[in-house]
Amino acid sequence: MKLTDSVSTLPFVGSNYERKLAKLDILTIENLLLHIPNRYLDFSKITKISNVKIGETVTVVGNISSLKNQITKTGKRMQIGQIENEEPSADGSRAKITVAWFNQPFLIYTLHPKSKIAVSGEASWFAGKPAFFSPQFEKLEKGKDTLHTGRLVGIYSETAGLSSKWLKSRIKFVLDHIENNLDEFLPENILKKYSLVNFKKAIYDIHFPKSEEVHIKAKERLAFNELLDLQIMAKKRKLLLQKKKTNKLSVNKKEISNLINSLPFKLTNSQTKVIDEILTDLSKNIPMNRLLQGDVGSGKTVVSAIASFVSILNGFQVVLMAPTQILANQHYETINNLFKDLKIRVSLITGQKIVKDIGRVDVFIGTHALLNKAKLFEKVGLIIIDEQHKFGVKQAEILTKSAKKISPHILTMTATPIPRTIAQTMFSDMDLSILNEIPIGRIPIKTWLVPNTKRSNAYDWCKLQILNSKCQMFVICPLIEESEVETLKSIKSVKKEFLILKSHFSNLRLGLLHGKLKENEKIQVLNDFKTGKTNILVSTPVVEVGIDIPNATIMLIEGSDRFGLAQLHQLRGRVGRSDKQSYCLLFTENDSEKATQRLKALTTTSSGFELAELDLKLRGPGEVLGIKQHGFGSLKIASWSDTKLIKASSEAVSLF
Ligand code: ADP
Ligand code: MG
Repeated sequence: MKLTDSVSTLPFVGSNYERKLAKLDILTIENLLLHIPNRYLDFSKITKISNVKIGETVTVVGNISSLKNQITKTGKRMQIGQIENEEPSADGSRAKITVAWFNQPFLIYTLHPKSKIAVSGEASWFAGKPAFFSPQFEKLEKGKDTLHTGRLVGIYSETAGLSSKWLKSRIKFVLDHIENNLDEFLPENILKKYSLVNFKKAIYDIHFPKSEEVHIKAKERLAFNELLDLQIMAKKRKLLLQKKKTNKLSVNKKEISNLINSLPFKLTNSQTKVIDEILTDLSKNIPMNRLLQGDVGSGKTVVSAIASFVSILNGFQVVLMAPTQILANQHYETINNLFKDLKIRVSLITGQKIVKDIGRVDVFIGTHALLNKAKLFEKVGLIIIDEQHKFGVKQAEILTKSAKKISPHILTMTATPIPRTIAQTMFSDMDLSILNEIPIGRIPIKTWLVPNTKRSNAYDWCKLQILNSKCQMFVICPLIEESEVETLKSIKSVKKEFLILKSHFSNLRLGLLHGKLKENEKIQVLNDFKTGKTNILVSTPVVEVGIDIPNATIMLIEGSDRFGLAQLHQLRGRVGRSDKQSYCLLFTENDSEKATQRLKALTTTSSGFELAELDLKLRGPGEVLGIKQHGFGSLKIASWSDTKLIKASSEAVSLF
């Protein structure tokens, strides 16, 4: 058996189980071994049957003396019986204790009278005496260690219809057969330096630990491996890119300041600094790989436009990639507008559109679909990836596809505040630029958490605002499912809300936007809103990223507790894009203290970084970075908050 073998080679893993395992991303034996318990139960205290005390979690050993199926008063199917001490006590009697399980009628066939079993669990009252309800159990066999009782027992999260016990039995089988293929692969000096346990031991101890101390060390070792892998991948990407040649671009200072002076606003100091960093990179002969991080509304687009201009001046094309068609369309308009006097040819690439004469285009704008136009990359000097966190795993693909003999420069942009430790690991192949300034003249958005009793007042207030100051309003309805995929259910809910609002705001014009509309319909709806044909846009969070409609100054969010703070901040960032006062109204059905605390934070804080930090505390990094859903940088064993281990693994990479 090898780590790379498919799980389907294991006994009892047929196509049905194979499918279930695949749902947990478990395809190989290695994946299975790295699927670790999410908690441990301590059943290591072994007690005599006569000594069992209520409320204590213990293990007892004995023989089944009876077991039968029975229907309880409430109609549940119960398997109830007793186990008794193997050895009689001085008076010849044997201590007994009641055990019961539910809905496992087959148990009476597996646990025969006289079967010797161990039972682990918390004792509770039954008919005036201690008893075990739904305890863990296993038949004891001579010379075999217990797996489910009498020890620390790992519990695996029971998803995809796989029971913890079943997973454990398959893992046990692997461990019994793979011994020779779990050799250590880290050099001795690294193991020593970071006091890491041996790989083989870590794998055994994480699943079947002898003590708490041991499984903590095991987890640390496996977490280290995971982080190290990420670091090594980043390092490889970096080395690969550094070996590439690129088109060294010359920076024409005069032309650039002309463009900057033609802007309708003055650049912030932060923008100027970041542009400097980028232009320095562009004039080198190794490809730039830079991550531009800046809060919502900090003005990343214009920075990328100036970088584009440099490439174009040098005769090289630019590819600007956005995660949604809607955003690509917007960029098309913005960039066209910025370059309108410069005879620069901008082309919007959609799924259907074929550009006949690639050579005559200066800037290609589109979604990820652009990647399939490999021919483009021959003459491209700069690739810009907007809202990088939305691209997820595809990022790697973008890099590989662009890494031809002559590599373009790459500028990646995100509004997600990535903690420094994470930037240094996951993204250690990229240099970091930060926009930490919001353009002057912006008035902070007023954010309110509106109680449902004030809903109708709030609507009236919005109506007045729209009529009096000719502003526009977004209404966002949440996605219903956990995953960020729009479901029919959530479309239904946004459609329903649309009808309700239509009657409420009967003298106004409303648009409806959701992901299931056809591309051209979406663009039409958004265009109607942009041009002021509609006053209110009712939408799912498809407008979350990037949309820039300065005249919209009210953002109303339904079911706001369903969103992470970072996402709410992004949504709120759709307003407050002009010098007019903007408002964000949060509604929620969830009045729990935790939800209220989270949402209240939004009403007092306008910094994305601060909110992300808070979210980090409240919900963990997976949610905050928006990476959990996108499979980008999601960690299975290690934790993004373990700064010490992250640092150690990054140091270790340089020791190889
Ligand atoms: P984001 O960083 O969220 O992508 P955008 O690039 O969409 O932000 O910019 C938000 C808005 O701010 C746009 O309307 C843009 O024209 C405007 N903007 C950008 N830079 C400045 C600036 N220095 N001063 C004033 N407005 C600016
Ligand atoms: Mg943007």
